[in-house]
Formats: sequence, structure tokens, C-alpha cells
Amino acid sequence: MKRNSDILIIGGGIIGLACAYYLMKAGRQVCIIDQDCIGAGASHGNCGLVYTSGLLPLCAPGIIRHELIRTIRRTSPLYIKPGLDIPRLFWLLNFARNCTADHLNYAIQTRKKMLHHSRLFYERLFSEEPLNGDWEKKGILMVFKSEAAWQEHAKINEYLKSYGLGAEPLVGDALFGLEPSLREDIYGAWHHPVDSHLRPDKLLQEWKDLLLRHDTVIAENCALQSFGLTGERIAGVITTQGEFTAETYVLASGAWTPPIARQLGLSIPIQPGKGYSITMARPPMCPNLPCYLYEKSVVATPWQSGFRLGGTMEFSGLNSIIYEKRIQNLIAAARQYLKTPLKESVGEQWVGMRPMTYDDLPLIDWAPRQNNLMLATGHGMMGISMAPSTGKLVSELITDTTPHIDPTPYSIRRF
Ligand SMILES: Cc1cc2nc3c(=O)[nH]c(=O)nc-3n(C[C@H](O)[C@H](O)[C@H](O)COP(=O)(O)OP(=O)(O)OC[C@H]3O[C@@H](n4cnc5c(N)ncnc54)[C@H](O)[C@@H]3O)c2cc1C
Repeated sequence: MKRNSDILIIGGGIIGLACAYYLMKAGRQVCIIDQDCIGAGASHGNCGLVYTSGLLPLCAPGIIRHELIRTIRRTSPLYIKPGLDIPRLFWLLNFARNCTADHLNYAIQTRKKMLHHSRLFYERLFSEEPLNGDWEKKGILMVFKSEAAWQEHAKINEYLKSYGLGAEPLVGDALFGLEPSLREDIYGAWHHPVDSHLRPDKLLQEWKDLLLRHDTVIAENCALQSFGLTGERIAGVITTQGEFTAETYVLASGAWTPPIARQLGLSIPIQPGKGYSITMARPPMCPNLPCYLYEKSVVATPWQSGFRLGGTMEFSGLNSIIYEKRIQNLIAAARQYLKTPLKESVGEQWVGMRPMTYDDLPLIDWAPRQNNLMLATGHGMMGISMAPSTGKLVSELITDTTPHIDPTPYSIRRF
């Protein structure tokens, strides 16, 4: 295996692969290392929405009150492990400080550009490369049990409309005609036509194969252990498979970034936001479209090759413990919206760590101290939706070409 390359990417999730692809396209020789297999992290079992209309950040005015009420009513998908964890407390405080109208507007403008370009780059990727990833452009349905919540979404929709991303309201026959798998007691839905969906595990496998065919070196089960430094540059990395060297390094290690960056004296405020999913063969009466089951914050994603339910947000540190109760909550939530018969024990049960920043914007920037280290992480709940634009931006910054979007909002200096 070649151990010296132009670029070494640490982390083979969707972000690492997108960076590798655009760097390979720019003529660079790339190597990716991953402590596990390619796509074994958060990029494996997520819901696969390319959520172009997902402009709103998690930190928004009123969200804390909203989640507190849901916690009291025991309907919140959020769980914060109690205890004195200083980085988590610091993160939560900063999250609360970002729940302002000013940040909301700023984040919307910023996210819009990245989401818009990612959509265009996905279009190009799927038309120019032999990739498929079960990609479908049917939009997504925001499904509401209650009329009041459906009406409330009209306000958000007005907002989205002003950005050209409005949804179509659907009730009664129009709704059940489009999505017959919904239960009759569902009040209504909003159809966001600009969104699409794909099967992330399938896309990552195909993208990996494509990169291998273009001479990208991929080392799996190869965990970074430490960095070798020469002055202000990274000279090499020591891994479980020996030393790897490169001109430039990209840290795309998702929720694992803070402990890795700490070795370089870098404090990166990312918390793992643990989510759950279950994946099964297509059940009878499988939905036609991906459905966001609004009151339960659960996503049901159908593909030709299967069906997945995903959700929950647990702040409990880096761990892969699967709590059976949360799996059952996903099934129970789906049963309240879908006619689809779901068995108690089904297919693959999975947890993944979303790399959450407290302002819900990614981090894409040169490291402040090491001048050949690029950081590409912090995509939170939107890594699939934002990957192509991120990969392209990373490639543009490294090859010193004009960036397709302004990188300033993603700077590390904001923390
Ligand atoms: C339940 C759930 C549903 C989601 N649904 C959606 C959705 O519908 N749409 C959307 O846009 N986003 C969604 N997301 C978010 C999305 O999954 C993440 O934003 C995205 O996968 C992050 O990608 P990443 O490449 O940064 O991280 P990861 O995929 O976690 O990749 C990081 C990689 O780094 C590797 N690594 C870590 N440490 C080391 C080391 N020391 N040495 C070498 N390698 C290392 C890991 O093994 C891992 O493979 C969802 C997430 C969850 C949990």
C-alpha cells in the first residue's frame, strides 16, 4: 500500500469521501484512512434525506422552551445525560446563546448556499458518474397528526417560500392519494418538492469503489494514533498500520474530531448527537415518499432496496450503546402515522454519532496552528445534505482556486 500521497484524509464518512472525490477530480493523489470500514460512522444508517429545504438550524428562538415542554410530556426525542461534563455544559450554554433571531437569519443564509450547491453537485455526480445510491427526487413529506401543528408549519412555509423553497399543503384526498400508506387519522402534510433522498450505505459503497478505480488509496481498520510535527506542519501520522505521510491532511473524523484535535492543542466544540435507526426489507404498504413524522421527530425513508426509520438525539458522549427502548419508540412512533405493519424486532438496529456544533453550522477551515491541516466536520443533522458542497469547498481551499461559496461562516475563528 502506498503510504505517501498528496492528501491524507482522516475519516471515511460521507464528508471524507466527498473531499476525496473533488480532490481526486482536481488531480491530487488521495489516501483515506479510517479506524473502521468506509462509511461505518454516522454516514452508515442515517435517514438519507438530501434536505435542501432544511434551512432552519436546530438553535432557533423558542426551541429550548419547546423541548422542555416535550420533555415534561415525555414526547421529546432529546435526551441529555445528566452529570458534570464541562465540554457538554459549555456546548449547551453556547447553543442557548445562539437561539436568537439574528443567528437564525445568519444560519439560514449560510445553510441555503451550501444546501443549494450540494443539490446541484449531487445532480452532476449522479449524471456524470456510475453512481446511483438509490437516489430519488420525489421530495419529502412533513406529516402532521394535529391540525394545530400543521397550521403552525404554514408560518415556516411562508418563510421558506421567500427563499424559493416553499412546500405544497396537502390534506384529505390529495394527501392520501399521494401517500396511501398514511393512517386516516393524519390531519395533513406539507410536500417539499425540492428535496430528494438516497440510501447512504449504498452510496458510500459505490463512491468508495469509484475512488478505488481512480487510484485513491483506502486503508480501513487503520486508526490514527498520533501526529508527527515539524514546526508548524504535520509531517506524518502514526496509525495502527504504521506511518502515513502527505503534503496536506484533512481531518474529516466527524464526532471523533475533538479527541483527535486535542492532540494538536486544538479545542473543537463538537458534541456527539447520538441517533438511532432500524432498517428492514420493504414492508407491505411501504410509503412512496420519505415522511418526516413531525410530532415524533422520526423519519421514515423508503428505497427500492429497503425501508428505514430513524430519529432521536442523545447527548451522552461517544458510545455505541443501543437502548432497546429507543428502538421501540421509533416503531411506536411510526405506527401512529403509518398503516404499514411493523414487527417488534426487525432488520438492522443501529446508532450513529452526529457531529454537532452549537451554532449548527459546519466547520471547514485551515487549522490555526498547523498550516497543512484542513478541518472538515461539524455537519450535525445535515452531513448527507451538505457533503458535495463541503467536499468541493475543501478541494478549492486546498488547491487555491476560487471557492464556489464564501468559506467565512465555516471558520474556526467563530468558536
Ligand atoms: C439517525 C440519524 C439520521 C440522520 N439523517 C440524516 C439525513 O436524513 N440527512 C442528512 O443530511 N444527515 C443526516 N444525518 C446526519 C449525517 O449522518 C451526518 O451529518 C454525517 O454522516 C456526518 O458525516 P461525517 O463524514 O462527518 O462523519 P462519519 O460518517 O461519522 O465519519 C467519520 C469517520 O471518521 C472515522 N474516524 C474516527 N476516528 C478516527 C481515527 N482515530 N482514525 C481514523 N478514522 C477515524 C470514523 O470511523 C468514521 O468512519 C443523520 C444522522 C443520524 C445519526
